[in-house]
Amino acid sequence: MSDLEQDHRALTNVIEELLDDGLRIPCIRSDTRQSAAWLSDNPKRQEIAATQCMGCLAIRECRRYVAKHPKEAGVWGGTTEKDRRNPDVLRQLWGGVL
Ligand code: SF4
Repeated sequence: MSDLEQDHRALTNVIEELLDDGLRIPCIRSDTRQSAAWLSDNPKRQEIAATQCMGCLAIRECRRYVAKHPKEAGVWGGTTEKDRRNPDVLRQLWGGVL
């Protein structure tokens, strides 16, 4: 299993444990129209989704994952695509987390 696969599995395990405990993960919803905001190309929808990440109990693991395995698309760990292209914003958003 590759490093990427291992880290993705670890993140998925954290998310699954939280869901098993009845806790909410904002990007995982039964209404796929709402979950789609995390994958949207629309910057405004991404901003709204990123705001909702702030209440996610997996945000630290999600941020560590995307910091180690950068993603161009979508919302990860409370950051939009635009956020992740700006090192200053990243340092501010991720300060103390990584
Ligand atoms: S922090 Fe990650 S796992 Fe949590 S809602 Fe945001 S994208 Fe989903």
